Amino acid sequence: GPVPEDRAIDAAVDSAYRRARDRHDGAVADYIPVLAGADPDAFGLCVADVDGGLHEAGQTRVPFSIQSISKAFAYALLCEAVGHHEVRELVGVNSTGLAFNSVIAIEMNDGHPMNPMVNAGAIATTALLPGGSPDGQWRFLHEGLSRFAGHELILDDEVYRSESGTNQRNQAIAALLHSYGRMRTDPAEAVDVYTRQCSLRVDARDLAVMGATLADGGVNPLTGDQVVSADVCRDTLAVMAASGLYQTSGEWLFEIGLPGKSGVAGGLVTVAPGKVGIGAYAPRLDAAGNSVRGQVATAYLARSLGLNIFASA
Ligand code: GLN
Repeated sequence: GPVPEDRAIDAAVDSAYRRARDRHDGAVADYIPVLAGADPDAFGLCVADVDGGLHEAGQTRVPFSIQSISKAFAYALLCEAVGHHEVRELVGVNSTGLAFNSVIAIEMNDGHPMNPMVNAGAIATTALLPGGSPDGQWRFLHEGLSRFAGHELILDDEVYRSESGTNQRNQAIAALLHSYGRMRTDPAEAVDVYTRQCSLRVDARDLAVMGATLADGGVNPLTGDQVVSADVCRDTLAVMAASGLYQTSGEWLFEIGLPGKSGVAGGLVTVAPGKVGIGAYAPRLDAAGNSVRGQVATAYLARSLGLNIFASA
């Protein structure tokens, strides 16, 4: 179908926001200590359409760390740089059905990281990035994610330090991949670049624009910058659809019918190809680590704007 009209999007965003605001269930993530300090009631919702229009409700300019949402964009940038064939073999595209930080998933699959949306695959992805050194890889990522957002993103140093002091599990995951010969760089260095990547600060509006760039064949609808190719967008969206919400990715796809990616700070990005990107921020998470209000608001938007990619009409 066509891109929904501006007025229809505005009305849907408003209703979605009001419905989702009534939800008070879920819990703010605290395994990264600084995240526990987030305002549990913070809530922002933004739709960015491929024509550059922004439709916002609530706290769309409150910053938070991008966390796992960075995985989708890092994967896109890697595919753009080196081609998806090598990446597909080394990182994979199959869902694990397990938690985002699962070690069992690695063990069950002969040391394979499985897909780039879980920590193992994301760390393996980061290790493959061009740049020649950890700092070069970081510059590559920082520049690329900023181009998706349409402005320079800032590293949240407090989040970076908090997670760096408590990311023993990710270090273990990288070391385990290394033991299977699946890391292309030093595992500790790859985890450090990955931790910086997760600590980049965004807001709900940024997520909507980043999603709209994937919806728009890789062209940022605000800046006109071609960040990645249309083929890379297609591949990235397929991986998001299969694994973007971890072990509840099937339920998400069934309910919403769109590729999405969540992060433990409470961010959620959703992409309606050719139409819109949706950015949500609400820190209370369900048991899988996905924003409760973000999912409720996005489900409403998908229904009311007819965005489900599996619907015939
Ligand atoms: N940086 C977080 C971690 O590695 C990201 C996880 C997430 O957002 N689900 O644990």
